[in-house]
Amino acid sequence: MMRTIGIPWLTLLHLACCASALGQTSAHLQTSDTELVLEAGSAAPRLVNLKVPGQPPWENRGSEGLIAFVDISDKPTPLHWSFNREASQSGNDRVTFVYDCASPHLRLTWEWRSRQSYGPVEHQIRIENLDNQEIWIPMQDSLAFNWQVDPQQPLEHSFVEKGANTPSPLGTHQVPLVEGYHWTGTSSTYGDLSDSEPREIIPWSLVQRRDAAQTGWYAGIEFSGRTRIALTRDKDTLQGVLGLNPDPSPFKTRLAPGEVFETPVVFLGGFRDGLDGAGNVLRRWVRAVLGNPETWKNPNYPLVVNNSWGGGMDVDEQVALRMIRDSAELGVEMFHVDAGWFRGVGDWYPNPQKFPHGLAVIADDAHKHGLKFGLWVDWTQAGLSTEPGALNARDPRVHDWMVTDLPADWKPEPFKGQTIDLGVPEAKQWAQHEVERIVTDYHLDMLEHDGYLVAHGCDRTDHPHAAPDPLNKCIYKSWGSYWVDSSNSTDVSYHAVHAYYDIYSKMRRDHPGLLFEICNDGGRMVDFGSASHGDYFSITDTYDPLSNRRAFYDTSHLLPSAMLESYVEKWPTPRIENFRYMLRSGMMGWLTIMIDTNAWSPEQRSEAKREIDLYKNELRPLIRDANLYHVSPRPDGVHWDAMEYWDPDRQRGVVYAFHGTVEGEKTHSFPLNGLQPSERYRLRFYDHSVLDRTVTGRELMKQGLKVTLPLPDSSELIFIEATP
Ligand SMILES: [Zn+2]
Repeated sequence: MMRTIGIPWLTLLHLACCASALGQTSAHLQTSDTELVLEAGSAAPRLVNLKVPGQPPWENRGSEGLIAFVDISDKPTPLHWSFNREASQSGNDRVTFVYDCASPHLRLTWEWRSRQSYGPVEHQIRIENLDNQEIWIPMQDSLAFNWQVDPQQPLEHSFVEKGANTPSPLGTHQVPLVEGYHWTGTSSTYGDLSDSEPREIIPWSLVQRRDAAQTGWYAGIEFSGRTRIALTRDKDTLQGVLGLNPDPSPFKTRLAPGEVFETPVVFLGGFRDGLDGAGNVLRRWVRAVLGNPETWKNPNYPLVVNNSWGGGMDVDEQVALRMIRDSAELGVEMFHVDAGWFRGVGDWYPNPQKFPHGLAVIADDAHKHGLKFGLWVDWTQAGLSTEPGALNARDPRVHDWMVTDLPADWKPEPFKGQTIDLGVPEAKQWAQHEVERIVTDYHLDMLEHDGYLVAHGCDRTDHPHAAPDPLNKCIYKSWGSYWVDSSNSTDVSYHAVHAYYDIYSKMRRDHPGLLFEICNDGGRMVDFGSASHGDYFSITDTYDPLSNRRAFYDTSHLLPSAMLESYVEKWPTPRIENFRYMLRSGMMGWLTIMIDTNAWSPEQRSEAKREIDLYKNELRPLIRDANLYHVSPRPDGVHWDAMEYWDPDRQRGVVYAFHGTVEGEKTHSFPLNGLQPSERYRLRFYDHSVLDRTVTGRELMKQGLKVTLPLPDSSELIFIEATP
């Protein structure tokens, strides 16, 4: 984003560094998991090494690759960076090395920041145009490094797919990182676009040494636009790069006088004890650093929700009022109206046939019943409604916000229209007002955004982003919207994502306590940038028990469980055991029920009520605060799978055990994690599948927790408590 920044340094320490004879300056940053040595060379800064305390360091051979030229009036102009010692700063939790270029006059700030005493350290590069002319800058990566590695050292690379559409059969990848390894993972808001392309990743990667301590490093990107992470192992080097996605090339972005280009913030952290060891630190860090303190202050977060999509687009006042009564009886905490309530796409006013008294009365009724009220809105989508207040794609005043000229026969789909380019200042301003109006007028406690919020690319030459390459662009239609692919796609997403962040940051300031659900067609916008602007994610767009468990298994490696929403939809449950299995497959994080609960049998109703009670009283405190261990292979729906929560402070935990469709295997043992071998633990089998008993930590961690469930598609919850 091009912003003019003030520099909000609060506590400036002197440059506590050692200046060597070569004129170099070095600094350290440290958390309990991550130690970094940083160095300011005369022409470029360098991450010298990363160390997990007590482990051999990862030595970096390369300096940060700073952009070497800019375009001025279409002419490439070389840059010469030189270290500005006076402007640089180094403190206990922040180091900034400043580099200046005299002509054109630019300032580059290379910043590292630790925001907690544990976990990773954040990094960003900012380039400010101090010149009096417009310049165009090429791709500046967020972070590039070139670790020196022993060619004999076995390494493993882990990355995690988004649950976009339907989680794939793999999801969590743990791959030997061997000589010749060359990998690129990408993220945008359009995951799972086509079967021919690799699935998008949550923008994060982890590399560990394959030895007993299972230590290494991980890095992630706090941005929702088009980004990529690449890794290459070649002889004695492991090269990595993170940042905006340079494909399709050539990337360029405009910098008017006074404007600042900011690379997406990345974080880099050390870890021990493998993937779960890393996850247990990273989840806590995401909560503390990126999470919304207002949200976490509420002890009822994550909430239990009833969503109207169980009846599809047919929601109306009668249905809503009935669902509210029913939700209150079941112990649900929020009533969530999904698509179907509005006059039309882009026309975000209640349909007068369905809601003759408006939406606020529905919200007020929910509030009267002790429920919060949430609403689905596709607020970046234009349609064809000519009602006052509607965003009409043919309206000459907004026509230019569409990413391309729409053909005369274009029509929106029932709840999908044309994504506008939020990076256009007027479009952003309209959206800001519209979101504010919707939240205020309809008395919302939660706003869910869906659809494709960030323009895919843009055909316009009069927008703040770069123009498309006229010789290399592709315009096509999918899901009711026209899309553009060209060399400006990444720059378009860069501007649109910043506009989206600005809108939501302002909403949070003006409406403390308002919740944001990040949906974007289910699981396509799961990244660390939206984690810092929203409160929870729809993690997949497929809602059967297996898809819910798979999406949770993957995403929970990186993000706090409380933020991970599973929608539980209607599924065949001939037996009550199957019904519990269905519910519990969505009860490991944020639980949203998306079933017409009036269709439940009395037995199912009373069972659901009991499970919701259990969720609120016993499971939720663990989902919020406990460590999480992936104690089985990823669910396949056939075999057994399980997840373990263990809270070392409260000395209690729970294992969710699931028996898939396999008939033969009536018992299964899951080796647990995080316990003390010599301690004794009381096991409480919630469904009484076997008698409760007390066992040692050693037994639970070696032989495992033995679970007996004869029925296919059944489950058990085993509560664990340390006993004196
Ligand atoms: Zn545009």
